[in-house]
Amino acid sequence: MAAVDHIVVGGGIVGAAIAYGLARAGEAVTLLDEGDVALRAARGNFGNVWVQGKGATAPDYADLTRQAAADWDDFSAALQDETGIELHFRRPGAAYICFSPEELGKRAATLAASNLKARLYSPFEVLDRATLAERLPAIGPDVAGATYCPDDGTANPLYLLRALIKAMSARGGRYLPHHTVTGLSRDGAGFAVETPQGRLSCGRIVLAAGLGNAALAPYLGLSAPVRPVRGQILVTEKLRPFLPMGTNFIRQTIEGGCIFGESSEEVGTDDGTTLPVLRETARKAVTAFPMLRDARVVRAWGALRIMTPDGVPVYQGRDGAFVVCVHSGVTLAPWHAGGIVEHLRRGAFDPQIFQSFQPERFDVQAA
Ligand SMILES: Cc1cc2nc3c(=O)[nH]c(=O)nc-3n(C[C@H](O)[C@H](O)[C@H](O)COP(=O)(O)OP(=O)(O)OC[C@H]3O[C@@H](n4cnc5c(N)ncnc54)[C@H](O)[C@@H]3O)c2cc1C
Repeated sequence: MAAVDHIVVGGGIVGAAIAYGLARAGEAVTLLDEGDVALRAARGNFGNVWVQGKGATAPDYADLTRQAAADWDDFSAALQDETGIELHFRRPGAAYICFSPEELGKRAATLAASNLKARLYSPFEVLDRATLAERLPAIGPDVAGATYCPDDGTANPLYLLRALIKAMSARGGRYLPHHTVTGLSRDGAGFAVETPQGRLSCGRIVLAAGLGNAALAPYLGLSAPVRPVRGQILVTEKLRPFLPMGTNFIRQTIEGGCIFGESSEEVGTDDGTTLPVLRETARKAVTAFPMLRDARVVRAWGALRIMTPDGVPVYQGRDGAFVVCVHSGVTLAPWHAGGIVEHLRRGAFDPQIFQSFQPERFDVQAA
C-alpha cells in the first residue's frame, strides 16, 4: 500500500500533461496507464494546434483553445529545455481549404460569428483561389479558396507525449504503465485505487483516461459522457517541401511525409481502417494538391476521438476527485500542464469558472 498525493489515471497526452503540471508545481504525482492494449488517441492523432473554428458555438471553449494555443510557444520551449526533445512545434498559421464559394462563404461567416462571441480575438483572412495559390503554389484547380488563421500551428504528438512523461519523471513523478485501474472508491479523506498490481491510495485523483473515463467516473459520482469517433489517417513517403503551413486535413511534417485525413465515423470501438474511407481521403488530398497523385502511401491507421455529445470538453471536479474529457489534447496541452493545475491543487473546479464545461448540461437536453 503506497501513499501518494495525486494519482492521474490515463497516460495519454491529457493525463501526461496534467501529471507534468502537478510535478512542476511541486506536487507528488503518480501517473497510471493501461498500456498498449488500450484505445489511445494520443498515439494516433494529427498533431494540429488548431484554433480556427474551435468552439464556434461555445465561446468559453473558443477562449480556452485560443489561450492554450497562444501559450504553445513558451510551453514547448520550456518542455524542450527540460527534456532535450524537440517537439517540432511550428506556427506558420493554417488554411482551411474550401472546394466551393458557398463553403468558403459559410466558413468565413462561422469564424466572424465566433469572434463576436469569444472574449479573445483570433484574426483570420479569407483567401480567394488566386491569393491562396500565391501562398500554396501546389494547390489544385478545383479549390475555391481558404480561410487562413495565423494562430494555428502543428507539433509532433508522439514527441510531445514522450517529453511530458520524461519531464514529469525528472521532477519526481512516477509513471506506472500496465496499471489498469479496475476500481475506485473514497477512502477516508482520500481515495483507494484498485489495480491488478494492488491497491494505491491518494489524496486527490484525476481521471484522464480518455474513453476509459466513461467506466471510471461513476465510481466517484462523476460523469464522463464520451463516445468514440473514429478518424482514419494516411501518411506518404517523404516529399520535397511544398506545404509551408498546416491545413484542416493535410499537413507536411518536418521530415517531409504528408499526413492527411479527417473522417469522423461512428463505428464503436473499431479502430481499424477501411478502403472506402481511405480512398475518399486520398481523393480529397489529390484534389487539393494534385502532385500527391504520384506520392506513395507508406502507412495508414484508424484512431478513436474522445467525443462528448456537443464536442465541448467536460471538466468536472469536487472534493478532490476530477474528470477531464477533451478531444483536442494536443492543442490544450499548455492549459493542462499549466492553468488547470491551481484548480486541481485546490481540490475542486470552481463551478463559476468551469460552468460551461459541466456534464449536467447534457441532463437538461435529456429532460
Ligand atoms: C484521428 C485523430 C486526430 C486527432 N487530431 C488532433 C489534432 O490535430 N489536434 C488535437 O489537439 N487533438 C487531436 N486529436 C485528439 C487527441 O489525440 C486527444 O485529445 C489526445 O490524444 C488526448 O487524449 P487523452 O489523453 O484524453 O486520451 P488517450 O490518448 O486515449 O489516452 C487515454 C489513456 O488512458 C489510459 N486508460 C484508459 N483506461 C484506463 C484505465 N482503466 N486504467 C489506466 N489507464 C487507462 C489508456 O491506456 C490511454 O493511454 C485527434 C484524435 C484522433 C483520434
